[in-house]
Amino acid sequence: MPELPDVEIYRRRLEDRALHQRIDTVHVAAPELLNDTSRQGLGRLAHGHRFSLARRHGKCLFAGLDSGSWIMLHFGMSGSLAYLERGEEPPRYCRCLFRFANRASLAYVARRKLGRIATPTSPRAYVDAEALGPDALDMDADAFAASAAKRRGQVKSWLMDQGSIAGIGNVYSDEILFQAGVHPRCAVGELSGKTLGRVHRCMHTVLEQAIDAAADPENMPDSFLIPKRKKGGRCPRCAGEIASVKAAGRTAWFCPNCQPQTCSPD
Ligand SMILES: [Zn+2]
Repeated sequence: MPELPDVEIYRRRLEDRALHQRIDTVHVAAPELLNDTSRQGLGRLAHGHRFSLARRHGKCLFAGLDSGSWIMLHFGMSGSLAYLERGEEPPRYCRCLFRFANRASLAYVARRKLGRIATPTSPRAYVDAEALGPDALDMDADAFAASAAKRRGQVKSWLMDQGSIAGIGNVYSDEILFQAGVHPRCAVGELSGKTLGRVHRCMHTVLEQAIDAAADPENMPDSFLIPKRKKGGRCPRCAGEIASVKAAGRTAWFCPNCQPQTCSPD
């Protein structure tokens, strides 16, 4: 599932490739993805305009138009964003295609139709209406500790709760907890201040390193758990076999040696 690093890569793709080109047509192949508009509504909003800026909050990408309007793209479980050069065929599962006057195009691709496209008045308005927490990369240690103090339950579900911290899902919560040496089922309330500080630092370094790796597991540092998150995978730190457990309703991968279930491994 696309999480903060993946969406940041799509944001940069939009910013680097797709700005300042006049939008000629918008083709929506899956109108059920449209949240608050219709095919015609989205077409009217975009036609004749240009994307002029790209913002991100958590897992949401906001494409700003030169008219001042915004289009929000959420990538659901499997979505992505592709820029196609003139004449390039749209990929399979292309659900929404912005075709530019120069014949290049921007494709919103989603194998499963679980994403969302909306037209908020601004990113801020959307974030407020959806009651999203602060973006994970914008949270300093104090904001992180204040968020933890309001939470009960397991640390993994807190990290994944978009209303507490926006941007982290199943994969990156596992990585952050692995790097911090914290078991995914530890209760938030039982983590010491020192451990919380370590989780916060790991959240930043993991997300930043993943962005540097273009969110591609093959390019991630050797110290990362992500490429090993499968049965028989070996811990990059102690070479022990990694294990899975149900946490926050999902399958969490972790190392039983490096992440013991005592909740304050200072
Ligand atoms: Zn280990």
